[in-house]
Amino acid sequence: MPNPTLDIGLNVTGRRVLIVGGSRPARRVIARYRAAGAVLYLAADTYEVPNPLVRAVAWPHSPRGWRDLVSAVDLVVAVDLPAHDEPLLVAACAEKSVWLTWEAAAPVSRPGHVTLVGGGPGDDDLLTVAALTALRSADIVYYDRLGPHDRLDEWAPGAELVNVGKHPGHHAVPQAEIEQLLVTSARAGLTVVRLKGGDPFVFGRGGEEMAACRAAGVPVTVISGVTSAISVPALAGIPVTHRDVSRLFTVLSGHLPLSEEELAHLVGLGGTIVVLMGVGTLPHLASGLARHGMRADMPIAIIERGFSAHQRTTVADIETVVRVAGEVGARSPAVLVIGEVVRLAQCDDAAAVEVLANAATLSGQR
Ligand code: SAH
Repeated sequence: MPNPTLDIGLNVTGRRVLIVGGSRPARRVIARYRAAGAVLYLAADTYEVPNPLVRAVAWPHSPRGWRDLVSAVDLVVAVDLPAHDEPLLVAACAEKSVWLTWEAAAPVSRPGHVTLVGGGPGDDDLLTVAALTALRSADIVYYDRLGPHDRLDEWAPGAELVNVGKHPGHHAVPQAEIEQLLVTSARAGLTVVRLKGGDPFVFGRGGEEMAACRAAGVPVTVISGVTSAISVPALAGIPVTHRDVSRLFTVLSGHLPLSEEELAHLVGLGGTIVVLMGVGTLPHLASGLARHGMRADMPIAIIERGFSAHQRTTVADIETVVRVAGEVGARSPAVLVIGEVVRLAQCDDAAAVEVLANAATLSGQR
């Protein structure tokens, strides 16, 4: 049973209580009044993360606004408000005969924590609800161009935004330094978000950042993101698995060339092969797969700059792909998809249609 009385000796059960101040400094007050059964309204003069425990009300900007606001409740609890608003609040409560009490703000510098957030493949709509929630409550966001960042001002209105990636006139911050920044910021009591492209654990070095936080005793959580390995092929109409066509997919980084042994295993395994960071090593991969017995006419798609206005899908086969990629000038960032599923691609260009038609005939499906 919640105790229906507070220090002030009022029974607030079912009463409308207006708390004035941000939900972080007011969090203890919110918890106490909630436990006492009050119906809570919160007026904060800064942007607030939606808090399911309270109903947010607009900050009044005039004496009249304050009078209207306080006259709608039974009690006002002032926790944290700008000095120039104090007399307005006091006058409004006096005029409307509404109880006003003052409570101390809770310290906002508590031990911080780090959230590794997957930002998806670059389309705002593929940011998760959890990612947006984490950004909204962030004090500092470390981001780079691999993650969505155009609207960070809006998504993380209360945060300092730090670009740790390569950008004009700046080198990328080295990985060890990024890890140090995450730890130092969290130790300073900040709510830290590390925003990454796609999923933090798919070639995103998220595992290293998590390990660094753990080693430093900093609490760390991960919010998975939509990975480009699946979502970028999907853009081109390519499902990475498809009934009767492919029942497995292998995702690999083309950052370094594969060994002969890996190439042999990959061909032996069958299924769909998805390659990230693979444009540079494409010649090595294509010739290696062919050498280990992959059909010369196995279709391959190169999907560049997915989710941007410059998105482009090129379809070729293992035998022709190096020449075709050279002709069209394929560049990173791109996702490569190798396998029968590529014939499901939606593609307008004539060369691709021919490759897809051949693939369909050979596999006897479609
Ligand atoms: N963690 C990320 C991958 C990081 S590696 C994820 O889960 O998606 C970076 C590589 O991802 C790029 O070189 C490219 O191969 C691929 N990539 C990411 N976003 C892409 C996009 N919008 N279009 C095409 N390729 C993309």
